[in-house]
Amino acid sequence: MHDVVIVGAGVAGSIVGRLLGRHGFNVRLVDMTPAYTKPCGEVVPTSLIGMLSKARLEHPSVVDKINFFQFYDAGGRLVREVGFNTPVWHSIDKSGWVNNLREGMELARGAVKDLGSIKARIVVDARGPFASRGLKVVVWRGYARTRDFEGRAAIILSRNPFGIAWIFGHGDEANVGGGFLGIGEPRRLSMRLLQRHGVTRVEGDAYSLVTLYPRLSLGQGSVIRVGEAAGFVQSLGGEGIRPAVESAIELARAIVDGGEDILQAYTAATRGLQVEVRLANLLLDLSRALGAKILGYVERGFFDLWLRGRLRESRLTLSRLAVLRGA
Ligand SMILES: Cc1cc2nc3c(=O)[nH]c(=O)nc-3n(C[C@H](O)[C@H](O)[C@H](O)COP(=O)(O)OP(=O)(O)OC[C@H]3O[C@@H](n4cnc5c(N)ncnc54)[C@H](O)[C@@H]3O)c2cc1C
Repeated sequence: MHDVVIVGAGVAGSIVGRLLGRHGFNVRLVDMTPAYTKPCGEVVPTSLIGMLSKARLEHPSVVDKINFFQFYDAGGRLVREVGFNTPVWHSIDKSGWVNNLREGMELARGAVKDLGSIKARIVVDARGPFASRGLKVVVWRGYARTRDFEGRAAIILSRNPFGIAWIFGHGDEANVGGGFLGIGEPRRLSMRLLQRHGVTRVEGDAYSLVTLYPRLSLGQGSVIRVGEAAGFVQSLGGEGIRPAVESAIELARAIVDGGEDILQAYTAATRGLQVEVRLANLLLDLSRALGAKILGYVERGFFDLWLRGRLRESRLTLSRLAVLRGA
């Protein structure tokens, strides 16, 4: 019998496996795909690199560094520009990195539905949006051959249907995509929005899901959840890589420490992430009500925290936001 079986060898699952393997745990990963190819916008706050170094984990290859952000409405009008002296985001080769993290571990192939039947001391659910609780949105992603967006990100906000399209500098190409509430095939609408910004030809189309309004669910019985499966993803923009890394590091630490109640230790250690998720859920309500106009109201300091993945440090408190939402 394995000490730990991890279902889902994406960002979070691979990291939990890697960290536990280092401490002598007998770990098995199970994934429905032989290689990680999940489509993504592939941008992360630069602070992720420090987080990985501290945990002595492999870094992803950085293909672009982004320090300039432009926000548009669906009509193509520029609503807000925010620039920084140093890069705030890295554009990464996410699949290459996750496949690298998976290397050397026992990886079985299979699509697991019933985690309760797995025989192991600890079972980790790391199936990402396939296992999360919340509203699932279909998101499309492709690549455009252009260097025009090197070092910058263009984010287009659509109010009706509510959602975003993006263009992120990604080395000698741009990572583009979009997702909208209630739209099962987001490519067409995304392309209509992207064309206003000169993106007309896109290759490498792929689709996946992202969880909006995630409901946090960290564990049930002998199963502990991590990453997006636990609800650690930010509704405001769909940022899920850093939360997956952070929650995975905390879960591995709780398991290695081996206290009486692993779930309790993990829940306490991820308190900051939980606050961030709840804040983002409330902010999403505000942006749905106000559309792209919301970007004109918020202070520059907010962008600093949001884009750097430090929303939990914001002076906005959950209770203030709840009052605003009700107003
Ligand atoms: C198109 C798109 C763009 C995105 N852009 C960004 C971005 O730019 N920046 C960012 O931070 N976040 C982005 N996200 C969100 C981010 O991709 C996820 O939140 C993040 O990958 C979550 O990591 P995870 O390890 O929890 O899950 P995942 O990375 O989704 O990994 C889950 C793994 O579980 C496996 N799996 C699923 N079901 C089963 C099953 N039944 N049995 C076995 N294995 C299973 C999958 O094959 C996968 O390998 C984007 C999401 C999408 C869809």
